[in-house]
Order: sequence, then structure tokens, then C-alpha cells
Amino acid sequence: MTVTHDVRRTVSRLADGRQIIYFDDTAEAPARTAVDSRELGPRAAAGHIRHDALTGDWVAVAGHRMHRTFLPPRDECPLCPTGRGSVPSEVPDADYDVVVFENRFPSYAPVAVDDVSAPEGYLHAPALGRTEVVCFTSDHESTFAALSPHRVRTVVDVWADRTAELGADPDVAHVFCFENRGQEIGVTLHHPHGQVYGYPYVPARTAEMLARATEHHARTGRLLGADLLAAEQADGSRVVLTGEHWTAYVPYAARWPVEVHLAPHRDVPDLVALDDAERDELAHVYLELLRLLDGYFVGDDGASVRLPYIAAWHQAPTRTGRDVSRLLLQVMSVLRGPGKLKYLAGSESGVGGWVTDTRPEAVAARLRELAR
Ligand SMILES: [Zn+2]
Repeated sequence: MTVTHDVRRTVSRLADGRQIIYFDDTAEAPARTAVDSRELGPRAAAGHIRHDALTGDWVAVAGHRMHRTFLPPRDECPLCPTGRGSVPSEVPDADYDVVVFENRFPSYAPVAVDDVSAPEGYLHAPALGRTEVVCFTSDHESTFAALSPHRVRTVVDVWADRTAELGADPDVAHVFCFENRGQEIGVTLHHPHGQVYGYPYVPARTAEMLARATEHHARTGRLLGADLLAAEQADGSRVVLTGEHWTAYVPYAARWPVEVHLAPHRDVPDLVALDDAERDELAHVYLELLRLLDGYFVGDDGASVRLPYIAAWHQAPTRTGRDVSRLLLQVMSVLRGPGKLKYLAGSESGVGGWVTDTRPEAVAARLRELAR
């Protein structure tokens, strides 16, 4: 039987007016009443987005992000609770279970300064939207894979909460929840955290996937995501894990050296639509998947290599294509061997022509071997 997960939600404001929300999942957690005592001045506005006439993509221009915090010393971590380090952090309280706050150096924000004048033929717009930071634990040394299933379940609820709230903002066209782990991916803070972006437009890859799903639905009357899942389940050679509500598989045309997709068995457009049983099982299945990924490569010293990864939640855009989109988690890594990175070089960066030297079936077999 599924019991509704109990999370206490406390909304507050930081010194510059940015929103902070505590999501506490332990009964003994004290009330989160601490006040941000820093003198921050007015909150940073976002910049603008420019339309790339060559490709149709939008590019956010956020010059102030050059000054964002880059790998600060351990005692100046802005994501640790205040009081643990030598300076007040972004989280005023002395502890938290999970906390979300608006990014101090936003690519997209509710306030944006669009002060450029574009030459004839070019388009630009204010970078309105939201960029939020999600801290998974107050433990600086931890990692997502080390969280308890109870905590991961809270994080799933937080992703759903943020998807619903940001999705209701008229400036937000698409909500993207993601985690970058590892310096190889470009992480600038070691504290375990993810991010949520609310874009003012539908990003290029999402738009591309939506166009494919729309075409498939018009032709067959079915959901592309559901047909792909059924094909993977029927074939089985790339399936990594199967539960009652979720299946993980290496996609047929995986482009990254290590890539796994995790799909729900039920047709749902986004995280908000997941029921309690699906959220509960997701917590367990995702942790098991991360355990397998961390065992994938073994270094010369015989120890397994903690896999740097990007975890990307593909959801339906907020107002378009909701009837043809299907939720999907894509976990991918640039690591192609211990200490060896795949670079997106000429073919990939120049023309988007992906080349991979690992067979998806071999990647799945290796992961299944670790699952035993
Ligand atoms: Zn920290």
C-alpha cells in the first residue's frame, strides 16, 4: 500500500527578495524561521535572449554569470546551511532537508533587462523565466546516489512542485529539471544540487523531440514514447532494469559513451502527473540505476570510478504538445573510460553528426552484469 509522502513546505525570501522554499521530510525538523542577514542589494536581473537566424535556436546572453561563484573553498560553500562555514550562505537556516531557491546569477528571471537594439532582421527578447537551485541534502560531502530512498522521494515531489509552479507562470514555456554531477561536466559547486530552468521558449532539442512525437501521433494515433518503450521491452537486449512502473534501457541509437533512459510504464506528460506508487518506485529504481552507473568503469587501482553525468528530465512543454509528449529521464556521461573524456569535436559540434565507439547493447549488458 502506498502512503502519501509527508513533506512540510516553508516559503520565505532572501535578503534581495529572491524566493527560498524549504521542503522538510523529517518529522523532527524545526520550523524554518531564520532571516537572511546579508546585505545583498537588489536582486540581479536576467539579460536577454537572441535568436540565431541560422538555426532558429535562442541563446541567452547573461554577462553577469561570468562573475558567478566558481569552485569556492569548502568553508565558503553557498549551498551549505548558514553557520557551517565561515560566511553566511544562500540558506539562512542552520539546517534543511531539501531546499530550493532562485539562482543569484540567473540565466532567466522574473526581472530581465533587455537593453539591446538589434540590427534589422535580428530578433531579441528579455530573458524572462526562472532559474532555481535545488539542494538535495545539507551534507556537503554527499552525492545523489548516497541519498536515502525517502529523501529521493522528497526530491521527486520537489521536481513535481517546481514543474507545476513554474509551469503556471505565463512567461514560462518549458520547465527543465536537471542535475550535472562531476567537474568533468562543468559543475562549479561540489555541494549535491540540481537545477530547474523555466525557459521563455521551447528549447531546440525539446522542440525537435516534440515535432517527432507530433508527426508519429498524426500518423499512428499513438505516443512515440510509448512505442519506443514497448519496442525496447519486446527486444530486451538494451533493457537494464525493470520495475512495476518504470523501465531503464540504453537507447537504440545512444550517442553518449554511457547513456540510459528511464521511462514510466504509464503515459504521463510530466513529473506532476506521476502518482504516489510511481514516485515511490522511481526513488528506488533511480538509486539502483545510479549505483550501476557508478560501477560501470573500474580504474587501474581496481576501484570503481564515480561517473560524471547529466540527468535530464524531458517533460511536455507547459502549453504545447501536451497530448503527444511523454515523460522521460535521460542520464548521460561524457566519460568513455577511466580518465578519458569524449569531446564534442568537429563532427558533433560542427554539424551535429554523432559518432560513438560503444555499442548500446554492450553498455546494457555491462550494466545488467553489475545488477546481479
Ligand atoms: Zn556545501
